[in-house]
Amino acid sequence: MIPVAEPDLKGNELKYVTDCVVTEWISSLGKYVRAFEERMAEFCGRRYAVSTCNGTAALHLALVTLGIGPGDEVIVPALTFVATANAVSYTGATPVFVDAERDYWQLDPSLLEGLINERTKAIMPVDLYGHPADMDAINEIAQRHHLYVIEDAAEAHGALYKGQPCGSFGDISCFSFFGNKVITTGEGGMLLMDDADLCERARFLHNHAMSTTERYFHPEIGYNYRLTNVQAALGLAQAERLDEFVRIKRDNAALYAEHLADVPGITLAPEADWARNVYWMYSILIDDDYPISRNAFQVALKERGVDTRPFFRAIHTMPCHQREESFPVAEYLSARGVNLPSSVKLTPENIAYICQQIAELAG
Ligand SMILES: *Cc1c(COP(=O)(O)O)cnc(C)c1O
Repeated sequence: MIPVAEPDLKGNELKYVTDCVVTEWISSLGKYVRAFEERMAEFCGRRYAVSTCNGTAALHLALVTLGIGPGDEVIVPALTFVATANAVSYTGATPVFVDAERDYWQLDPSLLEGLINERTKAIMPVDLYGHPADMDAINEIAQRHHLYVIEDAAEAHGALYKGQPCGSFGDISCFSFFGNKVITTGEGGMLLMDDADLCERARFLHNHAMSTTERYFHPEIGYNYRLTNVQAALGLAQAERLDEFVRIKRDNAALYAEHLADVPGITLAPEADWARNVYWMYSILIDDDYPISRNAFQVALKERGVDTRPFFRAIHTMPCHQREESFPVAEYLSARGVNLPSSVKLTPENIAYICQQIAELAG
């Protein structure tokens, strides 16, 4: 079976993790935590970074750091991984959903203003499947209405918006380093920002809100959201290879596009002329004129040894975040989208084989 995602840990991962074990610095103190944070901040051109135990914790901590809580509203894409909306709910605030646009599958900035009211505090754009959201349009609206922007860049390490790295936008940007992400620490996350006070506040809250001057004095309720030195050791080794991974993922995407160019009934992964898509997941839409449904397509590929994933389910269609309204583009994409195998370990032969199966199924 060709997997959808698979990490590549063949750089300095073993060396750095071994160093943690040999020196017995395995908890959240240790040199790799700061080294990994500094490396990611530098990669994104951000001044500050705070690592966390996962990406969802990073999103939650970003919201809490900005003071968002009960009674507030935060605008979140209807088409994203559920964690983006859950992080808002954890604070007691309400996620308000915004539909996607058809061209690049990102949140549609033209719909934002209709959703803003006096309770709205922030917008959380997501760089979905590795393609940046339209940050200029989002930032312009946020500035006009005095809203915070929290970029969920969990799927877009190494992607660019108008030449600027994803993970550098908004008041705070967040990464995940889960096992299937562009770079991984197994589980892990990070907040990045340029404001020293926000960094200090996030660092304080993620360490049980413990006073930095009096040990075991906690002026408020904080969290244990720390990353361990062992995870950061993996992360540093992965970050050293981020440019290489981006190159491979883009080469693989180009190969997919070449092989699939003449297959009828599918829509290929888009890339805006203002974007560098990192193709976290190389994704296609199974259009209505393809001979079989998206679900049948996934079953057929599995029988031929190719694993796939469906697009995320639109968040407002699930019991935990049910809404009366419909978000037609999110629903359209969610019903038709498939993530094809996207690991950096894919060979050109793997991609040729996968595309041959897709062409055969097209009839
Ligand atoms: C993976 C992901 C997250 C959550 O990250 P975890 O590290 O799994 O908690 C959040 N948002 C998006 C868009 C993601 O893809």
